Amino acid sequence: MAGSPVSKSGFQLKDKRQRGVKMSSYSENKRKKQRSVQPNKKSRRKNGWKSALRRKPYVAAGILLLVVLTAALGVYSCASGKGYYADVDASEPQLDVQLLDINPYSRPGIQSDGVQGVVIHYTANPGSTAQENRDYFNGLQYSQETEASSNFIVGLEGEIIQCVPTWEIAYASNERNSDTVSIEVCHPDETGKFTDETYRSLVQLTAWLCVKFDLTMDDVIRHYDVTGKICPKYFVEHEDAWEDFKANVEDAVRKNQG
Ligand SMILES: [Zn+2]
Repeated sequence: MAGSPVSKSGFQLKDKRQRGVKMSSYSENKRKKQRSVQPNKKSRRKNGWKSALRRKPYVAAGILLLVVLTAALGVYSCASGKGYYADVDASEPQLDVQLLDINPYSRPGIQSDGVQGVVIHYTANPGSTAQENRDYFNGLQYSQETEASSNFIVGLEGEIIQCVPTWEIAYASNERNSDTVSIEVCHPDETGKFTDETYRSLVQLTAWLCVKFDLTMDDVIRHYDVTGKICPKYFVEHEDAWEDFKANVEDAVRKNQG
């Protein structure tokens, strides 16, 4: 677009030379011309892209196609969550094994009836870390205030602490304590929504347990599905997020099968 006034001057130069006009008066003219051209240039620049598109419709079509494709891809990857979790598979996640002391309040040391399911929980204690929750469970042998524990705790930064072996009962899921593995999940605030790091680790841990114990997505349940308790809160209040989570776990499992 900036080329047009120059080439215009170029023509004038040629014309004026042919007509034998002196260079000095020409450059004076050119300066005047440039001054008078300035506002034009601006308005031309303003509408430049429109006229450019008129001149090159295929470029316009190309740009439009690119914009549409980019938007569609963005919407697809957000909606399915596949874009962000594409690299999560069902391999064994890094586990920080800190088994609780065997005690009647959090680790009875009773062998389970096998693993028929994975039960997801949330700590209901915003901002608490995996380590704090693990230490709380272990401290119940002294405080004796309640019976509670879980096989695993996923922390705010995606760290995973194992508190009870998978073949032993933990006190988390009521009547399903004897035939499931439980996962307590930390969350930063009252909404109960997990951080991205926590979510990733939870997907991988659940997928790994599904492969290890030959479970299907129907065997992945919420505490809510056992007792009706609002736990894990975010997955109970957002059914779509719960379905997305199971889809992410299924994707991760599939990666290890094929
Ligand atoms: Zn629960």
